[in-house]
Amino acid sequence: MNLGRIRRRETAHAPAFPMSSDSPLGRCPTCGTAISSGRTLVEYERANGDRRRFADCPECGEVVTPE
Ligand SMILES: [Zn+2]
Repeated sequence: MNLGRIRRRETAHAPAFPMSSDSPLGRCPTCGTAISSGRTLVEYERANGDRRRFADCPECGEVVTPE
């Protein structure tokens, strides 16, 4: 039984994929804190080419859309 493997699921807070750029995503719309790309949780592109990102704000502790 490999407990170490099961525990990893609880630390899934960090991004599961490496980002190629280190540029900041933007600022938290709630508190204005700069959010680095390392905090990206989800990133997707819509049909019209609009790119959306969700990131974890270090100040709010919430998922926000950096602006
Ligand atoms: Zn915030």
